[in-house]
Amino acid sequence: SCDTLEKAAAYLRSGTPIHLQNYVSGAFISSDKTLVPFLDSFEPKTGALFARVPCTQSRHVEAAIRTARDAFPAWSKTTRAVRSGYLRRVSELLQENRELFAVWESIDQGKTLERARIEVDRAIANFSYFSTYILHEQTAARMIDGGGVLTYEHRSPAGAFALISPWNMPLYLLTWKIAPCLAFGCTAVAKPSEVTSMSAFLLATIFHRAELPPGVINLVFGDGPTTGAALVSSPLITGVSFTGGTQTGIAIRRATAHQIGKHVSLELGGKNPTLVFADALRQDTNERAIRVAASAAFENQGEICLCGSRIYVEESVYAEFLAGFVKFVQEAYVLRKTVGAVVSSAHYAKVRGYLTLAEQEGATFELGGVPPELDQQARESGYWIAPTVLTNVKPDSALLTDEIFGPVVTISKFKDEEEAMRLANDSEYGLAAVLLTADGARMRRVGEQLEAGMVWVNGWLQRELGTPFGGMKASGTGREGGSIRETCLPW
Ligand code: NAD
Repeated sequence: SCDTLEKAAAYLRSGTPIHLQNYVSGAFISSDKTLVPFLDSFEPKTGALFARVPCTQSRHVEAAIRTARDAFPAWSKTTRAVRSGYLRRVSELLQENRELFAVWESIDQGKTLERARIEVDRAIANFSYFSTYILHEQTAARMIDGGGVLTYEHRSPAGAFALISPWNMPLYLLTWKIAPCLAFGCTAVAKPSEVTSMSAFLLATIFHRAELPPGVINLVFGDGPTTGAALVSSPLITGVSFTGGTQTGIAIRRATAHQIGKHVSLELGGKNPTLVFADALRQDTNERAIRVAASAAFENQGEICLCGSRIYVEESVYAEFLAGFVKFVQEAYVLRKTVGAVVSSAHYAKVRGYLTLAEQEGATFELGGVPPELDQQARESGYWIAPTVLTNVKPDSALLTDEIFGPVVTISKFKDEEEAMRLANDSEYGLAAVLLTADGARMRRVGEQLEAGMVWVNGWLQRELGTPFGGMKASGTGREGGSIRETCLPW
């Protein structure tokens, strides 16, 4: 059967690894095993091999792009109502299969099932949001002067887009690109991360069942240097919407620099600060401040670009905050086992490397420690790193500058507001920030000076899809969501 949902269910019964297939022109393409090298995909929680992912070569990528180009003229001329109907159908089908997607996202990425359910719900919302958005959007029309001349702006669908996503929130981030792309009449070739390709494979069946016209959305699998590079650099691709690491963003910008007309949106890494002011720890807000700071640090194993991995606390409440924070993390995350496994053995080694550095530099492990090296046996029992809280970190340490992207947080002090802002902004990145304070004037005063695309005050990760999303500095360029006028893509 071509139905990926059935294959996924069969794996859950038998444990036989699944061979993923590209979805091009409305059909699954059987991969010629002699020509296509396969990449192994392992379950982070157990180390078990569960899928073999084709590493699509450039000529097959090119064929998928041609398909998207061919489908573009007809799709771009469909009415908004028609496209809205397709998107609504996709969101309904996802809803019907919510639990299967959540189980798989948890198996593939290592996240907890509870976390996976939240992300599947957000993926469903991505399609339902844009299905209605396009029906109610006002088109721009303006009188410029009193001379009876009407000038107006007309926006047309631009073409075929490359949509590339990372491994931390696979389904949610990929659908956050696919839904608006299709809604505004563009077609796409999408590529999920080679580390977590499963939910995109399942999604292909949803597109198939929703009877989207062939070629409108194509999914190809493979790694960055082979498949991703071929996809972004093709002259037939009108624009690239990319989410991933900053170094990859730089590579994509280089690869497309000579293609002047190509639209490139880059959502990149972060090293986000959480500022805790003394007034946030008043009796009635104490628990909330700690809860927000802890979830910003450890949700999804710290593998969210928006995670607050540098906590700065006002000196006068530092000891009180630290004690409360460590106690809360111990209870809510360590004992209740609400932190999943990190995504891969390579990522485990990376995070472990930073914890070894912390030990060498003499930082204090308030919680956690250096995990064992991943030998064969450990590899077979999964990639687990305990939530780790570090203090006494050297001010110039890489622990404060590099994106570790794991369940690791540093806690440092600041004296006053000025120092808090200086420390928060002392980063090459500028994606997000959390501000914990009860002082209304400070919320705006500090919030507006933080060099971050998004600032949460007394909260974290609440997403309103109409709010523009994106970073400053090395965290990227372009905005997703928000009003169309604010997005960099001409949809
Ligand atoms: P990555 O950059 O290694 O990979 C992301 C995607 O790019 C993958 O699909 C990969 O195959 C592809 N890719 C790699 N090299 C490529 C190339 N040369 N050309 C085209 N595609 C290429 O990132 P990752 O390790 O999968 O994800 C983690 C990173 O993503 C972190 O830095 C995190 O902060 C960032 N991230 C950012 C956001 C955001 O919205 N700003 C959201 C989630 C994750």
